[in-house]
Amino acid sequence: MINVFNPADGSVVGTAPDNSVAEVQAAITRTCDAFPGWSRKLAKERGDLLRRWFELVRADRLVFAELLVRENGKCLSEALGEIDYGLGFIEWYAEEAKRVYGDTIPSHAANAQVIVVKEPAGPTAAITPWNFPFMMIARKIATALAAGCTMIIKPSELTPLTAYKLLEYARRAGIPEGVFEMVTGNPKDIGQLFVSDTRIRKISFTGSTAIGKLLASACGNDLKKMTLELGGNAPFIVFDDASFDDAVAGLVSAKLRNSGQVCISPNRVYVQDAIHDRFVAAVAQKVAAIRVDQGLQDEFVVGPLINQLGIDKVAELVDDAKHAGAKVVLGGKPHAKGGLFYEPTVLANLEDEMRVAQTEIFGPVFAIYRFRNEEEVVRRANNTEYGLVAYVYTRDLGRAFRMSRNIEAGMVILNSGSVGTASIPFGGVKHSGYGREGSYYGIEEYVEVKYVLMAGLDK
Ligand code: ADP
Repeated sequence: MINVFNPADGSVVGTAPDNSVAEVQAAITRTCDAFPGWSRKLAKERGDLLRRWFELVRADRLVFAELLVRENGKCLSEALGEIDYGLGFIEWYAEEAKRVYGDTIPSHAANAQVIVVKEPAGPTAAITPWNFPFMMIARKIATALAAGCTMIIKPSELTPLTAYKLLEYARRAGIPEGVFEMVTGNPKDIGQLFVSDTRIRKISFTGSTAIGKLLASACGNDLKKMTLELGGNAPFIVFDDASFDDAVAGLVSAKLRNSGQVCISPNRVYVQDAIHDRFVAAVAQKVAAIRVDQGLQDEFVVGPLINQLGIDKVAELVDDAKHAGAKVVLGGKPHAKGGLFYEPTVLANLEDEMRVAQTEIFGPVFAIYRFRNEEEVVRRANNTEYGLVAYVYTRDLGRAFRMSRNIEAGMVILNSGSVGTASIPFGGVKHSGYGREGSYYGIEEYVEVKYVLMAGLDK
């Protein structure tokens, strides 16, 4: 058994199975054996099962949210937000199952018909991280099942409890064994079993770039399809013509979400010269008013980081920046509460060469940089191996358009700090991965296009 700890106080919240290699292999076999039956079900039948599942979970969203707070540390309002976000995918793909349309193409041959159909890719596997333990799984499984694929998932061993609860509700809704399987144990061994099994035709992974690259290389052996949602180093760019208060509010809410442990978290905040000092002061003032605490309460609070590794990394990055000349405007050290709490921190006077600029911080640290003009900030924003999301605040229409074209990212968000919902294609470029999740683009990742030529029709 694997113990699951509450990051707010170190208590044990529950346990998850420590599956052996043989158990994982048996679960993979069930996933593969279930594929022919599931893929041949009517799309409406699959959609109906997803819909029933969505309704059962929605009725108990508070139960899920409280468990999520206990295993992950985020506060209750955020946990409820995550449950609704995840449920949005199950609802969306329950509907989308019926809309995996193919095509007909004007025939190149006489007396023939050209048909293009989309067929489910096969049995699939997924590996998910701890920062959105519910949403990540809901998003992957709902898409796979809607497309007609079966799926085996390995959630993060740090946060497997909401995942197993979701599985329990799937069974209650009538989604059978094999169609949706779950395992936990040794991540490396399970990953190896997923990638080396030639019956698994696709892997969807969300996590670090390092592990994503390992898995992608291994998947090259039998050319498995992949969707990779990896790390980010999001620029958050504020021009001096922006709506100032909106930009401050957008930044603070985007950054403090899940204590900054989010791949789309603003990692480098670029503020134009003329408003820079006022902006830094306004952010610090707003952040100082937010409490740090455990999450089981109605008020929005900044929760703990996930584990000691997480807090050590944040502390190291902040200390390194301090030594290199950063100005600590707010916070700057582990919180007096102790444990895994870190003070919400605002750093200014930063340079692009510092480690904090080049590393995904994954903590409640606002790293603020000064810039002079558009051309310069585009160059600096793109000067990273990552390309997941960029936020830009400006009221100049031409500039908004140019920025949306010139930024290298899978997602560009103008005048808002909010990115995700079920209806948009989420994903990155460069070392942030490839493939998209959500929207009708998401389902394309789980199908293979088959061209059928029906010739000799007049015989
Ligand atoms: P994070 O920094 O978000 O924890 P990881 O990439 O380490 O990112 O973890 C994301 C997911 O990948 C988790 O479910 C974790 O257990 C899993 N994982 C970690 N190492 C491996 C590995 N070698 N092979 C397969 N999965 C792994």
